[in-house]
Amino acid sequence: MYNFEFKNPVKILFGKGKIAKLANELPKDKKILLTYGGGSIFKNGVYDQVKAATKGFDIIEFGGIEANPHYETLMKAVSIVKEEKVDYLLSVGGGSVLDGTKFIAAAALFEGDEPWDICAKRSEVSIQKALPIGAVLTLPATGSEMNGNAVVTRVSTQEKLAFDSPAVMPQFSVLDPEVIFSLPDRQVANGIVDAFIHVMEQYLTFPVNAPLQDRFAEGILHTLIEEGPKVLANRNDYEAAANFMWSATMALNGLIGMGVPQDWGTHMIGHELTAYHGIDHARTLAIVLPGMMDIRRKEKQEKILQYGERIWGISEGTSDERIDQTISKTIAFFESVGIKTTLPDYEVPAETIGRITSRFEERGMKIGEKADIGPKEIQLILEGRL
Ligand code: NAP
Ligand code: FE
Repeated sequence: MYNFEFKNPVKILFGKGKIAKLANELPKDKKILLTYGGGSIFKNGVYDQVKAATKGFDIIEFGGIEANPHYETLMKAVSIVKEEKVDYLLSVGGGSVLDGTKFIAAAALFEGDEPWDICAKRSEVSIQKALPIGAVLTLPATGSEMNGNAVVTRVSTQEKLAFDSPAVMPQFSVLDPEVIFSLPDRQVANGIVDAFIHVMEQYLTFPVNAPLQDRFAEGILHTLIEEGPKVLANRNDYEAAANFMWSATMALNGLIGMGVPQDWGTHMIGHELTAYHGIDHARTLAIVLPGMMDIRRKEKQEKILQYGERIWGISEGTSDERIDQTISKTIAFFESVGIKTTLPDYEVPAETIGRITSRFEERGMKIGEKADIGPKEIQLILEGRL
């Protein structure tokens, strides 16, 4: 196992009715900006619960943060933060609203010329300070509620880029599983698959003798496979919703990735598919992961075989046969929750592959747990999904 340092300061308020506890967490002496998305919080009662819980607080609102939050929109919020002297942000929504809020928090205190550099020059710009954030999560998927990551889309250049900093970890996140009751199938399926692939990015690498991390990871995968379909079948199953919600948080709160190699190549390629074609984040991952497993079958062999055996019970045949079966089982699981896994399923033309590989070429960037996946390998991964 590798050396590591781990600190996760996010306070979690988990369970039915927890939104009512907001007043205990929010500062009375600060001006708060409540951020939200396209309006789902008005339909499912979350907004009313938040308003009821925050009577007497100094709160203004900023709505309209899109799925795959737009830099252009977030910069409008940054202007409001400065004009209105906002000094606390309360995100009420899914991963997009929360990621967007993290960007607003960092951009509001950013001292460089161009806040887009927070993402575009991620390796040079280190975010040390940001406005404090609290969150009410309405969609289990990203783990954003308990991590310091955010992904932002710049529409004008069709770029989707991430940044991370401990400074944007929420101070607290409220996770009430009842928010799931209003989620459409599409978003539940996205949540299951995004969380599943977050685990895979930290698990399906090369072994470093970290059996506890492996078993945490396998535990989350099994739970998603068992509980996810229950949520899809009955949106009002509170217990299934609770187990799904906590699995998604645990999939990306840092714990399972400590002391082990991490890949994230599937996410990096997936972001480009969203940037060019607007495909839902989780769906891009379901397209890329099978191709990634296929071309990395040698480098990842030991862990793919372990995953196949422990998660899908595949233990017979040659290594290659077992890997093929494991990839098929993984695809079948994504399809079983309603997520298609090939490029033609989303009408992505073959030309997109060249656009994506040129971008990686320009950035001079290699990805994967060994930083050895470049444009050629990315081409193979995506061609395998045509
Ligand atoms: P999302 O983009 O936040 O939300 C998707 C849709 O679901 C929106 O239309 C939203 O409506 C709706 N919605 C949210 N909660 C709802 C509810 N309770 N009932 C009904 N509708 C609801 O989805 P997400 O999957 O959570 O976030 C995806 C984004 O997170 C992507 O940009 C992805 O790249 C990023 N991501 C971040 C991390 C991280 O670690 N930070 C990890 C993976 C992915 P509204 O518009 O009304 O809100
Ligand atoms: Fe993700």
